[in-house]
Amino acid sequence: MKTTVEYQGYYAELSPVPGQNLVQGRLLYVADVVAFTVPPAAARACFGQVVEDYLKKCHQLGRMPPFVCPQCDQPAEDLLTHAFATALCGQPVCADCYTKACAPAVRVGNC
Ligand SMILES: [Zn+2]
Repeated sequence: MKTTVEYQGYYAELSPVPGQNLVQGRLLYVADVVAFTVPPAAARACFGQVVEDYLKKCHQLGRMPPFVCPQCDQPAEDLLTHAFATALCGQPVCADCYTKACAPAVRVGNC
């Protein structure tokens, strides 16, 4: 069974490693391949560390994480990962997708 974990707006999908008491995690919504393998009990803590290390690495390289919007598959400067956008769109999305697909749902009447 796959589960998703979140750490400060970053998400990873965890899936069990067959025949071993381990889970594999992969950072979602970025073009870089960021993966880790750990015992299930350590997965959440480890993911937090992975994100911190990854952000440090990006900083050293002088760039932002290359986000990819899961809705339009386009590179995005940033993904809207706050609870409001995620709840409306069902997943973190780029600002364009949010505006096009999700935001109209919360438009209020003209006055
Ligand atoms: Zn998008």
